[in-house]
Amino acid sequence: MIMDMRTPRANSDTRPYYVATGDEEKIFKAAFRQGLSILLKGPTGCGKTRFVEAMAHDLGRPLITVSCHDDLTTADLVGRYLLNGNQTQWVDGPLTRAVREGAICYLDEIVEARQDTTVVLHPLADHRRQLPLERLGVTLEAAPGFCLVVSYNPGYQSVLKDLKDSTRQRMVALEFGFPSPQVEEGIVATEAGIAPAQAEKLVRLGQAIRRLENGGLREVASTRVLIAAGRLVAEGLTLTQAARAAVAGPLSDDARVSDGLNKMIDVYL
Ligand code: ADP
Repeated sequence: MIMDMRTPRANSDTRPYYVATGDEEKIFKAAFRQGLSILLKGPTGCGKTRFVEAMAHDLGRPLITVSCHDDLTTADLVGRYLLNGNQTQWVDGPLTRAVREGAICYLDEIVEARQDTTVVLHPLADHRRQLPLERLGVTLEAAPGFCLVVSYNPGYQSVLKDLKDSTRQRMVALEFGFPSPQVEEGIVATEAGIAPAQAEKLVRLGQAIRRLENGGLREVASTRVLIAAGRLVAEGLTLTQAARAAVAGPLSDDARVSDGLNKMIDVYL
């Protein structure tokens, strides 16, 4: 089981760098105070995770992040009995820990999780704020400060389609897209540590790739890949070398498509 649980950031003094692109911070904080669950919709690499990290910091809550994958089961989320010597011992999963501690629980890319996981999410996501632990025969009430946040890419098949309407209606949805070019230039320059003029070129290339429709790409050029290219530039590579390695390479394995991307790189950089 691969589970990524980043250390809570709430206690660190510096706020994770996040540039708001609209009223998402205000809406998140209002939903948090009202005990509502939050859905973040948007493509991979557009800042959803960083946003949650910044919100956890501002709200002073620990953050427990779970990167969902297709083998993720309910037991992975809530916990299981494990063998300890010749005895079995219950070990809380990340969702249960968040419910007990009053943490923000971020289920990243919930689409990947198995269908049966939605069953435990229902009573947590709606007004009940309860987590039934069947194996222990108890139902936990979420501690104050607990907040369920899930992200998904609406372009994919979604397990969320199976959430009951009554539950979905109690979730607040925030739509994420890529930031405007000016904002994205600032983000790429800051995160990669490169000159604004270099960031501007990378962002212009990214925008052009995003405009390609049906270009045979699995994903578009996200802010994340532009930052990766910027990091290579900060190491002394040329913009062209960096974009070929960090933008064109990861986006496609198809020689024809890669060739097209490399031509775009030559034009834009
Ligand atoms: P997602 O969770 O949507 O896949 P991330 O939050 O991991 O994406 O974003 C990828 C990277 O892009 C982040 O590590 C961060 O460096 C950068 N990023 C994207 N949007 C922003 C933003 N609005 N403010 C600051 N950094 C951002």
